Amino acid sequence: MVMKGKKGIILGIANKKSIAYGIAKACKDQGAEVAITFLNERFEKKLAPIAEDLECGECFYPCDVSRPEEIKALKESIEKDMGQIDFIVHSIAFAPKEGLSGRFYDISKEAFDVAMDISVYSLIEIVRELKPVLSNNASVLTLSYYGGVKYIPNYNLMGVAKAALEMTTKYLAEDLGRDGIRVNAISAGPIKTLAAAGIGEFSFMLKWNAAHSPLKQNVTIDQVGNSGMYLLSDLSSGVTGEVHYVDGGFNIMGMPAVETSEEGKQTIAWNGDPK
Ligand code: NAP
Repeated sequence: MVMKGKKGIILGIANKKSIAYGIAKACKDQGAEVAITFLNERFEKKLAPIAEDLECGECFYPCDVSRPEEIKALKESIEKDMGQIDFIVHSIAFAPKEGLSGRFYDISKEAFDVAMDISVYSLIEIVRELKPVLSNNASVLTLSYYGGVKYIPNYNLMGVAKAALEMTTKYLAEDLGRDGIRVNAISAGPIKTLAAAGIGEFSFMLKWNAAHSPLKQNVTIDQVGNSGMYLLSDLSSGVTGEVHYVDGGFNIMGMPAVETSEEGKQTIAWNGDPK
């Protein structure tokens, strides 16, 4: 039981397909006590069975990260119900639809500001507000994607946000290292979730990733969950400021594998039907 005796808050569960749910389950299975948040009343009802499933008890709190007062209230609730916590999972991103397809240069300042506020600044704000309730060897985890490093079709505005999020992870890691707090990111391969449904041509991304990654398959929320649990546990006590890829190895590929037919014709080794 790697997480026995650990308590933490997980932000970003929309349903049982959410990456945050995979992380929550892995932590719980390894003995952690988890608290979760919901965006608004509508999601409170939807998430109540999940909170029950994860045995959150009273520790099921509202938090829309675009509202600073809700982040402050979250700290008060955690202090009252849980005392100190050992980990935070920030599994939150949002970009207006216009930022996830079409011409990149058409993105409005308004859409840009919203995406950066919810997907990037919220990590800084959450860590700052919750710092008084963090134990002195706490671990913070956020979620990124390869589109923050290299061009990915339609990822557009979210790509810029993920680039900023990955650097935010590193600057926070340096800043909080002196307090014993670690900050890491997982760059997950594409997974069919609610947030992913907003990205243009997402089903092709899934196919491409599976076909061209060394493991020839897409990752699951259980795989990301287990890697996340490791980064939140003391097993990774020497690791901070990292962006850890959980993507079937896709990010190491400089070029797709090539096949040569008996006639000597060279083609991309992809039958379009990955496992
Ligand atoms: P998801 O299940 O839709 O989770 C996204 C979460 O962000 C939802 O719980 C959503 O809440 C929450 N959120 C959005 N705006 C918020 C706000 N203002 N305040 C609080 N919460 C807010 O999708 P997911 O794929 O698991 O996404 C989790 C993280 O993984 C994101 O950072 C995403 O970019 C990242 N990621 C995803 C993939 C992928 O392929 N799925 C790959 C790499 C990284 P509501 O649903 O209640 O609005």
